Amino acid sequence: MSKSFQFNDSYKHKGLRRKLVQLIKQKGIQDEGVLNAIEAIPRHYFLDSAFHELAYEDQAMQIGSGQTISQPFTVAYQTEVLEIEEGDRVLEIGLGSGYQACILVELGAVVYSIERIEPLFKKTQELLKALGYQVQLFLGDGTMGLSEHAPYDKIIVTAAAPEIPKTLVDQMVLGGIMVIPVGSKDHQTMYKVVKETENEFSKKALDSFRFVPLIGQKGWKR
Ligand code: SAH
Repeated sequence: MSKSFQFNDSYKHKGLRRKLVQLIKQKGIQDEGVLNAIEAIPRHYFLDSAFHELAYEDQAMQIGSGQTISQPFTVAYQTEVLEIEEGDRVLEIGLGSGYQACILVELGAVVYSIERIEPLFKKTQELLKALGYQVQLFLGDGTMGLSEHAPYDKIIVTAAAPEIPKTLVDQMVLGGIMVIPVGSKDHQTMYKVVKETENEFSKKALDSFRFVPLIGQKGWKR
């Protein structure tokens, strides 16, 4: 049975969104395309109606199944690192609410996204269909990547990894960029990874973040 959605983007929501964009800008995000995408997409659509009032606070929120939608600043930060160009093929590991995937689509990317939790996957699949956002969705362990559609220009991992999964680097084009939080379960450093040759990649440590764990064969075991 299909769930009915109510999409109402009021002046109040739009106003709060503009303020959020100003805040994210003050926190250091400069890419105009990224800021415009945050302004364009109603984040409250991706949250339970009980949380609509809080949708434009710069904070992570519960989305069910013990998972969270990332903080807007974090979404903007990871997106900025990817330097998205129109037509880029992007693989996302950790679909969650679908918000990050839609930001990438808004920037002109062709997005493939993987989620491991089935109820969350189904809920988000229905939402994106209702919103009309074209994202190729896959249920499974994203730490193994998605070889059938590789190579990707960009890869975004939206859960905390114990290390950089080589399987993902292998599925990028030369010059491809991956953004991934790496560290312990409670604290991670964001890395920008660039595939330099067939067998080598460079990595640059950026700021500190806190994500839910990446669980899978090349991630945490549980
Ligand atoms: N990008 C999401 C953030 C969701 S939180 C958003 O915009 O809302 C991270 C998500 O990664 C969770 O939904 C979690 O279930 C998922 N996840 C964790 N390990 C995974 C794996 N190995 N493969 C796919 N998804 C995974």
